[in-house]
Amino acid sequence: MNFASDNVAGASRPVLDAVIAANGGAESAYGVDAYTKRAEELLAGVFERDCAVFLVATGTAANALALSAISQPWSAIFSHAEAHVLDDECGAPEMFTGGAKIVGIPGVAGKFTPAGLEAALERFPKGVAKAVQPAAVSVSQVTEAGTLYTLDEIAAIAATARRHGMATHLDGARFANALAALGCTAAEMTWKAGVDVVSFGATKNGGLACEAVVIFDKDRAADFQYRRKRSGHTLSKGRLLGAQMVGYLENGHWMDNARRANAAAAALSRGLAEVKGVRLAWPTQANEVFAVLPPPVDAALKAAGVRYAPWSSGSLPEGFAIGPQESFARFVTSFASRDEDVEAILRTARGA
Ligand SMILES: *Cc1c(COP(=O)(O)O)cnc(C)c1O
Repeated sequence: MNFASDNVAGASRPVLDAVIAANGGAESAYGVDAYTKRAEELLAGVFERDCAVFLVATGTAANALALSAISQPWSAIFSHAEAHVLDDECGAPEMFTGGAKIVGIPGVAGKFTPAGLEAALERFPKGVAKAVQPAAVSVSQVTEAGTLYTLDEIAAIAATARRHGMATHLDGARFANALAALGCTAAEMTWKAGVDVVSFGATKNGGLACEAVVIFDKDRAADFQYRRKRSGHTLSKGRLLGAQMVGYLENGHWMDNARRANAAAAALSRGLAEVKGVRLAWPTQANEVFAVLPPPVDAALKAAGVRYAPWSSGSLPEGFAIGPQESFARFVTSFASRDEDVEAILRTARGA
């Protein structure tokens, strides 16, 4: 019963089958193979437009390279204060941009606002040599608090960014979970809302190790093949990335996976919220549940072998405090989460 993250699961069957099917025979190397081409076509279909697609093996590489394509070494890149690009990538965005500064913007529930962005921008005046120069904004969808920006919220941030001459990046490590929850199209959640570059995650939702950088304006993508190669993410047997993405996208498999993960999180969230003494820090909007557990519940779950990630955040709702005895826990569901495990967690929590 491991709910520590969605990457504790292996790859889903159709993805693995696609990799095995792509294994036989000779194929061109370095990402110019038939599988990668098919993946590019499928992603153009997902986004309903022509776009430049670059497959890489990790989300950190996707984010860092995507940001490097829309900034300079002297740039400022704005994200939420607890964004993955800021807290969880060991400085990869800073390294691949050649030194750009990531500036964190505080905000409740993992989200920042246009007003927060405007306030942060005041510290970095344009044309002043001592200040890093605003170049890009990065929005996580799903956020690090398991919440979602509405389409209007994304559009408002992107419009503010554009007004200040900045591009907008969307960190979609959990892109499918967000899409399934919002019930919108990929186009609506990205370029139609003003997003310029997307890190399109597949790994956490059924891939083995595969993410795509999607760049809508092909002019911005002109140098990207060099950036990717320099980072060591141009796989010589590139078909293995292409095949994963094809297996992931074909027959709506990626959205089936996301819907299953989201449904498991919704059931877990509903059930936990009804347990005496348990509180949810944020609403469950995709596949992550953030719960504050009283000591008996925490102890009973641990004794039952349930795994979850101990959490902390400066993004809690105003007045929401976690007592010294309480545990703040993140549960993440995936396509592989089993209903009986969710039920066992709820039974154990209620029993405690
Ligand atoms: C998991 C995750 C990533 C990608 O991380 P990798 O471990 O490098 O694949 C990026 N952004 C967010 C918000 C994530 O949760």
